[in-house]
Amino acid sequence: MSAREVLIIGSGPSGLTAAVYSARANLHPLVIEGLQAGGQLMLTTDVENYPGFPDGVLGPDLMAKFREQAERFGTEFVTADVDRVDFSSRPFRAYVGNTEYTATSVIVSTGAQARMLGLESEARLLGHGVSTCATCDGFFFRGQEIAVVGGGDSALEEANFLTRFADKVTLVHRRKELRASKIMQDRAFANPKIAFRWNSVVEDFLGDGRIEGLRLRDTETSATSDLAVSGVFVAIGHEPNTKLFAGQLELDPGGYVVTKPGTTQTSVEGVFAAGDVQDHVYRQAVTAAGTGCMAALEAERYLETLHDVQTSAG
Ligand code: NAP
Repeated sequence: MSAREVLIIGSGPSGLTAAVYSARANLHPLVIEGLQAGGQLMLTTDVENYPGFPDGVLGPDLMAKFREQAERFGTEFVTADVDRVDFSSRPFRAYVGNTEYTATSVIVSTGAQARMLGLESEARLLGHGVSTCATCDGFFFRGQEIAVVGGGDSALEEANFLTRFADKVTLVHRRKELRASKIMQDRAFANPKIAFRWNSVVEDFLGDGRIEGLRLRDTETSATSDLAVSGVFVAIGHEPNTKLFAGQLELDPGGYVVTKPGTTQTSVEGVFAAGDVQDHVYRQAVTAAGTGCMAALEAERYLETLHDVQTSAG
């Protein structure tokens, strides 16, 4: 089978925008969308900052619209995770199990995912009162006392959101100053349901089968204390999903795909990267969509250049 013109790996706002643009350019894109398709917006509720939705839109609904739009112009989808890629020769190759997909250009849009504290008890209780997604799980904590770990915008956004359900949300942060933006801080400080535990690190997630509390250590006094909660949301940032590309694409020290400034071009000509996989600054759905558009236009130009070379050689 001949190589695809455009293969897109990942199906968040960047991958699906790249699909819309390349499908409308008649490049017949294939999206390998991942088993957990749709990216991080699938884990959110109200999206109020995506232009065009003055009343807000639910994250999963927005992603369903993105997908529908990509499908409308003929995008094909494979619902699977890519296991391995080979960008060392052309056409480029991606593998799902033993199935090989070949493509003349590739758009990498595998996004990022929640960072965890790394404690054994955290892993054991994940899904049993420990969560990384307030939107998905907040509903279960109606009338309860819960904790959010972290001090960035994500942590404060989750804490604020969770006060819709919980009676009390304690924000546990390892320092005395928050990293979050001023507006998010002001909102959290003004929320009577949010309490703060400063200079506190989580030593252990307590509970057998279900979370019952956190063992916290004060970083100044080293004193430990237990905080009784029936839910814990870990909101300490994200990791780019780039294991697949180690040794294939240049990655920065944080593991993000390096792109040439002002473009989506990676270290391999013909391979482009869009969205959170290459963006640790903005990380917004709209910027991800914007870079997805850039990647599709750049892939299109790259394919045209190849075609021109082949035509003049022939
Ligand atoms: P972040 O800004 O990297 O913040 C991570 C937070 O978790 C920091 O407070 C950090 O503490 C803490 N942390 C990290 N590792 C930890 C560990 N091992 N133990 C304890 N605490 C740990 O990540 P984010 O909050 O996910 O935000 C990421 C980006 O998305 C930011 O640019 C943010 O502005 C943006 N964002 C924006 C919005 C919005 O505008 N609505 C919402 C969400 C995210 P330190 O402060 O001590 O480093």
